[in-house]
Amino acid sequence: MTTRQTTQEPPVVLPGAVDEYLYGYTLPKGCGVCAALDGQFKQAKKKRDSDGMFKAASEIRHHPHKSR
Ligand SMILES: [Zn+2]
Repeated sequence: MTTRQTTQEPPVVLPGAVDEYLYGYTLPKGCGVCAALDGQFKQAKKKRDSDGMFKAASEIRHHPHKSR
């Protein structure tokens, strides 16, 4: 009797504290500007463009929203 164990672990992405600080953001719902910036962020991430990532994330963080 053969036991076939396929342990396929998903690639572990280490959440870096610094990365979270620089590139972390909460995407607000219903904001077209931030949605566009989110798209820019993802594009920059694909290109490993850390500067573009930082700019997009920082713009999202600083985009004013009415909070109630
Ligand atoms: Zn916004």
